[in-house]
Amino acid sequence: MKLPPVDYEAPKTVSEAVELLAEHLDQASVLAGGQSLIPLLALRLARPAVLIDINGIAGLSGVSAAGGWVAIGAMTREYAAEESGTVAGAVPLLAAALPMIGHEAIRSRGTIGGSLAHADPAAELPAVARALDAEFVVRSRSGERVIPAAEWFEGYLTTSRRPGELLVEVRFPAAGLGTGISFQEVARRHGDFAIVGLAASLTLSGGAISDARLAFAGISDVPVRAAGAEDLLVGERPSDRLFDEAARRATGDIDPPADLHGSSDYRKKVAAALVRRGLRAAAGNAGERQ
Ligand SMILES: Cc1cc2nc3c(=O)[nH]c(=O)nc-3n(C[C@H](O)[C@H](O)[C@H](O)COP(=O)(O)OP(=O)(O)OC[C@H]3O[C@@H](n4cnc5c(N)ncnc54)[C@H](O)[C@@H]3O)c2cc1C
Repeated sequence: MKLPPVDYEAPKTVSEAVELLAEHLDQASVLAGGQSLIPLLALRLARPAVLIDINGIAGLSGVSAAGGWVAIGAMTREYAAEESGTVAGAVPLLAAALPMIGHEAIRSRGTIGGSLAHADPAAELPAVARALDAEFVVRSRSGERVIPAAEWFEGYLTTSRRPGELLVEVRFPAAGLGTGISFQEVARRHGDFAIVGLAASLTLSGGAISDARLAFAGISDVPVRAAGAEDLLVGERPSDRLFDEAARRATGDIDPPADLHGSSDYRKKVAAALVRRGLRAAAGNAGERQ
């Protein structure tokens, strides 16, 4: 299907991009990897007057680590992040989730910023960002602001980014010693969006859980933290009985959507199974970071 007629701008710097966004506000769409936006245009589900293509802005790509955080430029391709030794070493949960996104051809175009700005609730990266309390750096004509993940995801394909703001960087906290991780999902085929996904991270200190993070994909219109289960886990020693109880607590009051891929009840049962699997796997590999 052909795209609708649309004006096209290709700024070379962040300042130029921000000026164009200020000029066109909600009439503009930022074009990153195009893996989600181009289909939306083709299907007439998005009708911007102008596309602001940020592929030519060199300073928006790259991974760097400093002060216990890993900063990833918004235009960093998903595949480049997957290949990054810094990501693998310092943000293992992100490294585990990246290969589950679509296929290599999609990840070689799709970007970290694009996935997180698109905010598909079934996508892997929003769940990882929510689990790890990532920070989103946006820039506009009036300056920069940093938005915590808890405030970034507002609804289905909706974030707290305002018209005129460009997502320039996403920061993830580096995993501490004794941290184990697991990204679990059930999808119809490898490369499909998850029916339900789970980002899990556990930190063990002296044999007990000192930090627990669980965030679901695919059970609501935003990624969802399982705060009650996290509270239950902290201070306890890992055991199958504890993880069964955490799965009950994480899924007791969720009300996932139903669609042709699965009923609400099916998603709820999958979510509970993923909590058990994710916690066992995370506890199992926590010893690798000593
Ligand atoms: C066949 C197929 C299978 C896929 N499977 C999966 C999957 O299993 N899991 C998954 O998570 N994703 C999947 N994807 C989506 C893929 O991860 C996309 O790359 C991603 O969702 C969007 O990234 P993008 O860089 O292509 O962004 P684009 O498509 O260019 O943009 C997406 C949205 O984000 C906005 N945007 C992009 N960058 C910025 C920025 N810097 N500042 C402000 N707004 C911005 C755009 O305006 C647009 O609204 C799949 C895609 C395809 C085509």
